[in-house]
Amino acid sequence: LGALPGMLLPLAFATTLTSFIFSLLLYAKALVAPASALAPGGNSGNSMYDFFLGRELNPRLGSFDFKYFCELRPGLIGWVFINLALLMQEAELRGSPSLAMWLVNGFQLLYVGDALWYEESVLTTMDIIHDGFGFMLVFGDLAWVPFTYSLQAQFLLYHPQPLGLPMALLICLLKVIGYYIFRGANSQKNTFRKNPSDPSVAGLETIPTATGRQLLVSGWWGMVRHPNYLGDLIMALAWSLPCGLSHLLPYFYVLYFTALLVHREARDEQQCLQKYGRAWQEYCKRVPYRIIPYVY
Ligand code: NDP
Repeated sequence: LGALPGMLLPLAFATTLTSFIFSLLLYAKALVAPASALAPGGNSGNSMYDFFLGRELNPRLGSFDFKYFCELRPGLIGWVFINLALLMQEAELRGSPSLAMWLVNGFQLLYVGDALWYEESVLTTMDIIHDGFGFMLVFGDLAWVPFTYSLQAQFLLYHPQPLGLPMALLICLLKVIGYYIFRGANSQKNTFRKNPSDPSVAGLETIPTATGRQLLVSGWWGMVRHPNYLGDLIMALAWSLPCGLSHLLPYFYVLYFTALLVHREARDEQQCLQKYGRAWQEYCKRVPYRIIPYVY
């Protein structure tokens, strides 16, 4: 861990190169995969596009699923290690880690711990169900997440920020609110998709669709059409605020993530409209806001 902060750039380079080579191998594997194994969007016939988006939906070696593994393990755990190394480096430099560094580490550890604890929830996400496993996800999972999501801790190591207790408590409150919405929404959908008659979701109002599946129209999913994105964005802001307002860099994640989720939401809307047709239109009428109530 002591050596890690000084090795971030070479490691990021090596990971990027590895992602590129791994994606080429996945693309080659997909060329001999049966048509039923291909992702809906990664089979356009344009090899550059398919390499980027991913040709095969869930490439496996025996029972080992590459996408499921990469979504949850190397990048997320690597991110926690990088954060921890930066915290230890700060303790060495300044005698003890700052309150801001503790908050950033604690918040992001909670996020990664949550993803691993609720590991099976990833099975109902777009990445697993819809997107192929190509350069976009490989690079995102292995290189982008650990090296850019740790930017706040990297910033704090070189630009220590004073943070008083009242402000720290307010930021913690924001994080708790974000987490409550994020976890509540994701668990509600996951439970409903697994077993609609589960007592925790059985009483919720739903819209039937022609596919036989139902759409939740009350509970978290009756507030906005993507309550989980709202919770995630609130948490993102709580990760950046401990870094103060003197520099834009710690806010890179919030800005990038807002753009990612707005684009992702639009993609999901399009897919759901295709899948559910009139039922989706009815849902949009009943729940008019996409991510932020009365705003967007
Ligand atoms: P969702 O988990 O929101 O999944 C979307 C799917 O949910 C839809 O395609 C639809 O699929 C189902 N759905 C939508 N509305 C309803 C409804 N009303 N009732 C029942 N089912 C519904 O999307 P993501 O995969 O994008 O996100 C998962 C989580 O991961 C989110 O919390 C997101 O914020 C987070 N995330 C984090 C990232 C990061 O880098 N930190 C990156 C990307 C995502 P179907 O009907 O087929 O079940």
